[in-house]
Amino acid sequence: MLWKCSVCGYIYEGDAAPEKCPKCAVPEHKFSNLSEEAANKITDSTRTNDIHMELIKLAARMKRLAEEGMEINLDSTCYVTFKKAQEEAGIIKQRSKSEIADHAGKGKW
Ligand SMILES: [Zn+2]
Repeated sequence: MLWKCSVCGYIYEGDAAPEKCPKCAVPEHKFSNLSEEAANKITDSTRTNDIHMELIKLAARMKRLAEEGMEINLDSTCYVTFKKAQEEAGIIKQRSKSEIADHAGKGKW
C-alpha cells in the first residue's frame, strides 16, 4: 500500500502509515492511503522516469562513441556521420531530461 503525506507529498510504501513523515516529521494521521488508481499512476511514472534515465545513459554512451570516431577521423563522411550522431545523442539526452523535470514540476514521481 502507498501512503501520502498531506503536508509535503512524501510517498511511503508499507502496510501502515509511518509513525512520522521521514521528510517533514508530521505525525502518522497526516498520511492518507492512496487509491489503487493513484498508486498505479505512481508506479507508472516511476518506471517512465527510470526509462528516461536509461535513455540519458545510453545517449551519453552514444556521444562518447561518436567522439571517439571523430578523433579517429578515418575519412570525411565518417566524421560527418559521427558528428551528427554526437549532436543527436545530445538532443535525446536533453529531451528526456526535460521530461523528467516536467514530471517533477507536476508532482509525478
Ligand atoms: Zn511530510
